[in-house]
Amino acid sequence: MNLETCIKLDRRDELADLKNRFIIPEDVIYLDGNSLGPLLAIVKERVNDTVNREWGTDLITSWNKNDWINLPVTVGEKIAKLIGAAPGQVLCADSVSVNLFKVLAAALTLRPERNVVLSSDDNFPTDLYMAQGLTKLRGNDYELRVVDPEEVLAQLSDSVAVLMLTEVNFKSGKRWDMKAVNTAAHAAGVLVIWDLSHSIGAVPVELDHCMTDFAVGCGYKYLNGGPGAPAFVYVAERHQDVQQPLSGWMGHVRPFDFRQDYEPADGIRRFSSGTPGIIGMSALDAAMNIWEEIDVVSVQQKSESLATVIRERLRHEAAFSNLELFGPGPGPEGGSQISMRHPNAYGIVQAMIERGVIGDFRAPNIVRFGLCPLFLSHVDVYNAMNRMAEVIKSKAYEDPRFSSRAFVT
Ligand SMILES: *Cc1c(COP(=O)(O)O)cnc(C)c1O
Repeated sequence: MNLETCIKLDRRDELADLKNRFIIPEDVIYLDGNSLGPLLAIVKERVNDTVNREWGTDLITSWNKNDWINLPVTVGEKIAKLIGAAPGQVLCADSVSVNLFKVLAAALTLRPERNVVLSSDDNFPTDLYMAQGLTKLRGNDYELRVVDPEEVLAQLSDSVAVLMLTEVNFKSGKRWDMKAVNTAAHAAGVLVIWDLSHSIGAVPVELDHCMTDFAVGCGYKYLNGGPGAPAFVYVAERHQDVQQPLSGWMGHVRPFDFRQDYEPADGIRRFSSGTPGIIGMSALDAAMNIWEEIDVVSVQQKSESLATVIRERLRHEAAFSNLELFGPGPGPEGGSQISMRHPNAYGIVQAMIERGVIGDFRAPNIVRFGLCPLFLSHVDVYNAMNRMAEVIKSKAYEDPRFSSRAFVT
C-alpha cells in the first residue's frame, strides 16, 4: 500500500468531508477516538449556548422552556436509532457502570430461582467490578462466574440468571455474534446484558432484531459526547415492568409531587435516578446529530478499508516484524480498532504521541489504534504508520522517560 493508493482511496471516500466538522489540531493524527471522541464544532457551540443562554439567561425556567427535563429521553431516542431499538426503550443517563448495576439488579429479579451471573474473563473490568459489588451487596447469595470466552456458551445452564458480555472487546476488538449468543442464552432461560461501549457508532447493532434483553453503552467514545459524557441504557419493552434498585426521584412517576413513597414511572424513564448533568448531556445531544446524515454500515466499511493500510504495511515492512496483530481488527468479526502486540508497546505509544500520533497502550503489551472513519483518512493512517516505523527503527521507545507509566494510560 503506497501513498498514491491512499490518496485515491480518500478521493473516493464519501465520508471524507465529515472531518471538517471536528476541531482537531492540524499536526495531530488522532487514533484514540475509541477512548475519547474528539470535539465537534457543533458541540462547542451547543455547550456555549447551554451555558450562556439556557443556564445564564433562562435559569431554572430552562427545565421547561428548553426542555431539559426530557433531555434523557430525547438523547436516548437519537441513540436508539443507531442501535436498532424502536422508540421508548433507550434512556441517556449516568455512566456505563451505574447503568449496568441498574439493569443487572433488575434482570436478577426476573430470574429469582437462579443464582449465577455469568461473564467472560476478558470483559471490561468495570463490568466485572460492578457485578462483584452487587453480588456482595446481596450477601453473596449470587455467584459471579467468570470464564474464558470460549467457554461461555457451554456454561449456560438453568442456574444462570444473567449473562453479561461486552459485544466488542476493548483489547482485542473481537466481536461476539449477538444474535447467536442471545438465541443460545434464551434457549437456556438466561437473560443477556450487552455492553455496547465499543460497538455504538462503530458497527451496526440491531438490538430489537436480536431479541436483546438489556444493553448499556458509552457516550464519550465513538459518539463524541465529550469527556465523561453520559451513558445510555436499553431495556426491551417486554422487560420494562421490572424494578431497578437506584430508585431516585427522576425515575418516579410524578417527581414534583414530592410524595414519600417511590412509585416508578412507566416505561424506560424508571431507569433514571438523579438529576442529569445537563451541560454534558447537551454536548452529547449535539454530537448525535451527525448520525442523521450517515449510515453505520458505511462507517464500518471505511474502518475496514483504513485497517487494510495497516495490515498491508505490517506484512511488507521489516520495521514492523516484531509487531503482531492481536484480534480480528475491523471487519465482520471485529470493531473499529486494530490492536498489535509488541514487547515495547508502552514506549512506542509514548514516542508516537510526542510525534503527534495519538494512539493508546493497553497492558501488558498492546498498541491500540482506533480507526474512527468520521475524521480519519487513509493518508492519516499511512502517515501514522510512517511515524511508527521511525520510532521503531530509531528505538526512540527506549528513552528512559518512557520507563515509568502515568496513572492514566
Ligand atoms: C469505556 C467503557 C466503559 C466505561 O464505563 P463508565 O462507567 O462510563 O466509565 C464501560 N464498559 C466498557 C466495555 C467500556 O469500554
